[in-house]
Amino acid sequence: MKPRSAVDLHLHSTASDGTLSPAALVAHVAARGVRLMALTDHDTVAGIAEAAAAAREHGIGFVAGVEISVSWRGRSLHLLGLGVDPGAQTLARGLAGQESLRQERAERIAGRLDAKGAPGTLALDKLRARGVIPTRMHFARELVALGIAQDPGAAFERWLGRGRPGHVRAAWPELAEATAWIAAAGGKAAIAHPMRYPLSAGARRELCAEFRACGGHAIEVVTGGGSPAHREQAISLAVRCDLEGSVGSDFHDPAIPWNPPGRLAKLPGSVRPVWRGAPFPGLAADPETE
Ligand code: AMP
Ligand code: MN
Ligand code: MN
Ligand code: MN
Repeated sequence: MKPRSAVDLHLHSTASDGTLSPAALVAHVAARGVRLMALTDHDTVAGIAEAAAAAREHGIGFVAGVEISVSWRGRSLHLLGLGVDPGAQTLARGLAGQESLRQERAERIAGRLDAKGAPGTLALDKLRARGVIPTRMHFARELVALGIAQDPGAAFERWLGRGRPGHVRAAWPELAEATAWIAAAGGKAAIAHPMRYPLSAGARRELCAEFRACGGHAIEVVTGGGSPAHREQAISLAVRCDLEGSVGSDFHDPAIPWNPPGRLAKLPGSVRPVWRGAPFPGLAADPETE
């Protein structure tokens, strides 16, 4: 059996578009062998306190995190903040702005779905009643619940994915700006799933070099559902751009089989782990070598 990482620094809960509560998520990943986890909900730290308490109960290491939507050269990218102080002011202000952007974008998504004959406003009303900060995944699940799509994957394919009516861009903050929020909150910034963006190899290298120059720390080298070829490319990017490496499944839902927690490959020795040293918890045993 290939060696598995006991680290998972990219996980979602019901505080954003995951299906498990923060406490249930911790129990789920701990039962699958994860010894060091980060909760990284989209643009919110609302689940951190509950997850941190559950991680203490389960005796696993916990890192407060967040996944921030940002812009780079006019594209949307996802930036992980790892080891942040969830109460830090600059970050809190930034995330309040993200919530406004998400609420306003959700209205545009709803309107565009309505115009194409899907019940967008109805879906959004249901989300508002539940008090969620809306992501496209929330819309996808509501379209399934309303009988418009068979499963979330089909909802993305027909309604919400790239080039579809519900794929609406927001004026997300620039990569450098959100990187500064994370630094001001004492955390390390890491580019999430770097191979998932439709960029040329040259543009991806420029992204990593610019990110390093503006204070970025790491890229996610081992990702849920990533192919071995993508992992190899991410390893060379990290080495070439002098960035640390992270490991994260991007787990959302136990019903989705392609990225279960606790099954990720280990980071290769050529890449420095983002979780060594401050602001990460000192663990009795190193989760990668134990
Ligand atoms: P948003 O940040 O609002 O654009 O929503 C993005 C979220 O939707 C991602 O974090 C995923 O959870 C989910 N998502 C995006 N694209 C797909 C897809 N093609 N299939 C399934 N889920 C997707
Ligand atoms: Mn998501
Ligand atoms: Mn993401
Ligand atoms: Mn994610």
